[in-house]
Amino acid sequence: MLKKILAILTFRDLPINRKFLLFSSGYLFWFLVINLTCFSALFIVQLKADIVIEEIIPWGRTSEIMIRKIRGASISVHKIIISDEMEQANQNYSNALKRLEQCKAYIITMLEGGTIRDISVSIEDNYIFYKTRKIVKPENIEFFKILNNQLKSLEDLLTEILSEKSGQNNREKILSKLREYDILTKDVVHNLNIFSNDVSKQSEDFKEQIQHILYLVIVIVTISIILGILLSIIFGYLMTKSIKSNIDLLSEQIKALSTGEIDLKKRLKINSVDEIGILCKSFNSLIDSIEYVNSFKKIIEEDETIDDIYYRLGHIFTDELGLKCIIYEIFNSKNTMRVVYPANLDTIYCATDILLNCNLCRTKRTGHSVTSEKYEEICKYFLPSSAVDHFCVPIIIAGEVGGVVQFLCERDVNCNSQEVEKKIGRAKQFIKEAQPVLEAKRLMQFLKMTAIRDSLTGLYNRRFLEESSGSITSGILRRETNMAILMCDIDYFKQVNDSHGHDVGDMVLKETASSILETVRSADMVIRYGGEEFMVILMDIKLGNSENVAEKIRKNIEDLKVKIPSGFLKKTISIGICEFPQDTANFWEAVKYADVALYKAKETGRNKVVRFIKDMWMDQNY
Ligand code: GH3
Ligand code: MG
Ligand code: MG
Repeated sequence: MLKKILAILTFRDLPINRKFLLFSSGYLFWFLVINLTCFSALFIVQLKADIVIEEIIPWGRTSEIMIRKIRGASISVHKIIISDEMEQANQNYSNALKRLEQCKAYIITMLEGGTIRDISVSIEDNYIFYKTRKIVKPENIEFFKILNNQLKSLEDLLTEILSEKSGQNNREKILSKLREYDILTKDVVHNLNIFSNDVSKQSEDFKEQIQHILYLVIVIVTISIILGILLSIIFGYLMTKSIKSNIDLLSEQIKALSTGEIDLKKRLKINSVDEIGILCKSFNSLIDSIEYVNSFKKIIEEDETIDDIYYRLGHIFTDELGLKCIIYEIFNSKNTMRVVYPANLDTIYCATDILLNCNLCRTKRTGHSVTSEKYEEICKYFLPSSAVDHFCVPIIIAGEVGGVVQFLCERDVNCNSQEVEKKIGRAKQFIKEAQPVLEAKRLMQFLKMTAIRDSLTGLYNRRFLEESSGSITSGILRRETNMAILMCDIDYFKQVNDSHGHDVGDMVLKETASSILETVRSADMVIRYGGEEFMVILMDIKLGNSENVAEKIRKNIEDLKVKIPSGFLKKTISIGICEFPQDTANFWEAVKYADVALYKAKETGRNKVVRFIKDMWMDQNY
């Protein structure tokens, strides 16, 4: 569970570009969080400052101006009382009234919003102005409405005082009105003071709030920065670790592969499904294929014949790689080639001439791969009528082309596809691995062949007989058939050597061997048993037929004219026959009996065939 969470948090299974994208997105997110916090704090501070500048300060200031104006008006009222002249009293009345009207105008501006102009009543051109927002709080609106009424009452009292002054000038009445005026003024000033204090208290509150916001911002930003640094260190470490551990493992294995110390059984553990995981997977499949090719090499090394190897190669190409192919074996000494895979192939895709003259095959001649991929008619012996492409790869054995693998693919299937190319590339690996094994097997085959053949006549030698007599006899006994052993000896051969020399003697031996080979069937075996002695084993023969075959051999030799430097030479041959298992079920006893019959033939005049009969051999043991 923890591993799963860590995998998600460290973006383990994401492609590398996404990993870094998300990592930088994380950074961006953190950056945005910090900036957003700062900006919103600034915005709030700005809002608060606006309120302070456009509401609290102007309101406080206006209430102070109004107090000053009302006090000024009160002084003017007192001056009306003490004025000796009516003109002076009127002047003061006008000043007081102006001040009260200014106050009323301020109230309207405060209720509706606008510019406050503080114009001095006594010195008219001396004034200041500033803007204020309208009051929205209902209790404040109510307060200013009451204040407006009180100002109206003050105006009424003011008018009454002036009219008393100009009329009856009843001192008692004027003083009582003045007292009334003073009390109301005191009340108004008191109320304005309360409002002013309330406003300045609000201003203090805002100051505190702004400070609080600033503290909060500093704390949030500091925590965000510390957390961001911590998270980036942790994630950076985990991410790097998950990438690095895989890369380290991979490079270690690649190193081991290059030095050949790799354990082919070991596979990389795939910790993630990102590019590195994919790389590890590809590396594992590379090791798989190396191991497969390696085991293939071991298997073909243990294969008995060259044909087994060709079959195995063909099987891998066809069944495992899904490639259609034909494998040709080349016999450089005879300049021929033959199809070795698939077995029993009826038609080939090349002109059959190449089988009899392998140098016509372009791949054989050049030693290079030949493909019709780019030039359709690159090889003129590849039949152009066939709607297939070919890709011929040479098999190099002992420095020369010892075989050709022809891969075929239908032209419309897209032979040039990467997939086919990949498969052929893989097939080439198998060919490369098979080459030294084929070379060794061919050499072995050659050595074996020379060991069991007589170099003068090309016939099997006595060693072959000794090695294969067991399997020959067991085959006959298993099939419940018969075979005949013919022991043939050239009559008076010594004379040939004596009169014409050894070379002519060799010629006679060669011609005699060829004549015997031509007379018998291909399943029969002709062995040079001694100097001028030949053994013929007639396989699976009907009882009694052996004498006819022997007679044919004798007759053919009698008729044979061997060309020698001085003309022609004719020789005869004597043959002794023994039938197996009729005469004996012991092979070497049968050989002896045939020899006994031969002796009988020599004894009774030569140039004849003698069938062994029991009377010829009286001994119990041969
Ligand atoms: P017979 O009719 O009794 O068989 O008489 P023969 O002369 O054939 O018999 P013999 O066994 O006396 O002579 C065999 C001769 O064959 C002796 C040897 O010089 C000769 N010979 C054996 N091997 C070779 C060979 O490889 N080349 C040649 N030229 N002569 C050989
Ligand atoms: Mg002899
Ligand atoms: Mg002889």
